[in-house]
Amino acid sequence: MITQAACPSCGAANRIAPGRPPEAAKCGKCGAALALAKPVEVDDAAFNLHLERTKGPVLVDIWAPWCGPCRAMAPQFEAAAGQLAGEARLLKINADTNAAPASLKVAGIPALILFENGREIARTGGAMPAAALSEWVRNRVVEASAAAARRGVA
Ligand SMILES: [Zn+2]
Repeated sequence: MITQAACPSCGAANRIAPGRPPEAAKCGKCGAALALAKPVEVDDAAFNLHLERTKGPVLVDIWAPWCGPCRAMAPQFEAAAGQLAGEARLLKINADTNAAPASLKVAGIPALILFENGREIARTGGAMPAAALSEWVRNRVVEASAAAARRGVA
């Protein structure tokens, strides 16, 4: 679940009240839509800001305009953002104009990297239908929290 999200417009950290429709969430500082049901296109600075200020899972789609499979993936990624509204924040970053994708050492694009509370928990690559992508995210989040619980017990 997303319990805190950065505003795509001003960057302010907003607490997300449980039980409220995520589609309607607005920034408490500037009033802009928090866009929890849509992918947010970010640059390096915004990418870092969202990773720092999001409490909950963040899925990043690394793409480039010349990449056919990336363009095919775009509507699926957008649909997945709707399916995962309130569960995960979805970001898109252009590998041609930003440095973060290179520092994440992806082998090819489209690449999908899942973070939780700023830490990478899983990655995958290639185009994927929206439903399969949403399921992948949910399963990885469940596994990561199970692993964290085991570490807590040990
Ligand atoms: Zn704002």
